[in-house]
Amino acid sequence: MSECLFCRIAAGDIPSDTVYATDDVIAFRDIDPKAPTHVLVIPRRHFDNAAEMTADDPDLAARWLAAATEVARSLGVADTGYRLVINTGVDGGQSVDHVHVHLLAKRGMGWPPG
Ligand code: AMP
Repeated sequence: MSECLFCRIAAGDIPSDTVYATDDVIAFRDIDPKAPTHVLVIPRRHFDNAAEMTADDPDLAARWLAAATEVARSLGVADTGYRLVINTGVDGGQSVDHVHVHLLAKRGMGWPPG
């Protein structure tokens, strides 16, 4: 069994509040939300980060980002706006080494980010 938390969520071994699922991408609500809407969108296949994913499978990377915009539409935040965040590496604040994009919405976002 994979040790990766998000691989285990993708496999259904760990429960999640899933809001979107296809053969290669799933989206689920963040367990510690930083906005009223906070969803994580991940490829089912494991990549440590976006650089690894885009180098290995750019078509999947495109489907993954398209899925994030589709999730925004399906959750009703496409018109009011949202933020997509990909934390990468130590300085980027990445805590789970399975590539994921945060979709944050339903509040105003500050800039620059913390
Ligand atoms: P990052 O810090 O960018 O790597 O984001 C990882 C995110 O995963 C954090 O926002 C966590 O709150 C979230 N997270 C950790 N464990 C779970 C879980 N079991 N289900 C949903 N989200 C989780």
